[in-house]
Amino acid sequence: MKPVIDYLPEISQAVIERQVRRGKFIIADDEPEKVCTQCDESWPLTSEFWYGESSSQTKTHSWCKGCYLSTRYAKRRAKRGGNE
Ligand SMILES: [Zn+2]
Repeated sequence: MKPVIDYLPEISQAVIERQVRRGKFIIADDEPEKVCTQCDESWPLTSEFWYGESSSQTKTHSWCKGCYLSTRYAKRRAKRGGNE
């Protein structure tokens, strides 16, 4: 067996399997990827694509970094535009 790759979160195999059954993770090239609830794209479980969320069962934010950042920036832009 190959070694477990260095995921951002420490997700147990049982959790991964449960998430795959629910359609929240997919297995791509033998590696689990998490599906973003915002953009519906799947991304590898690394800090490049996800923020950590310790209270979550999957230890990651439910949105990928791209969605999270774009929403945050959009909000900030809207706030600035609305108040000035
Ligand atoms: Zn996304």
